[in-house]
Amino acid sequence: MNNEPRKEFSAPDASAPRPVNREDGPRRSFGPRKHFAARRKVCRLCAEKIPHVDYKQLQIVKSFCADGGKILSRRITGACAKHQRQLAIAVKINRNLAILPYCG
Ligand SMILES: [Zn+2]
Repeated sequence: MNNEPRKEFSAPDASAPRPVNREDGPRRSFGPRKHFAARRKVCRLCAEKIPHVDYKQLQIVKSFCADGGKILSRRITGACAKHQRQLAIAVKINRNLAILPYCG
């Protein structure tokens, strides 16, 4: 009965035996990214032991902004949640002060 269940999975038309690349990844929606080298996931501000990001620390705040003044996401910068919140507030204060541009 349950002799060869794999035959149903293999393509019925293609008789050419493909190399097994199931382990390689059936789709690329899952799994770790292979494109970039593993970026260290340490919050830069925690590493430098900056307890609080002030809006006046412009060079820090700007370093977490994109070119157009957008706040870079945590996924990109690797900032922790606490510092990301502080950065977001700092950027918004600076936008209000016309130091950083509004964007989007
Ligand atoms: Zn942090």
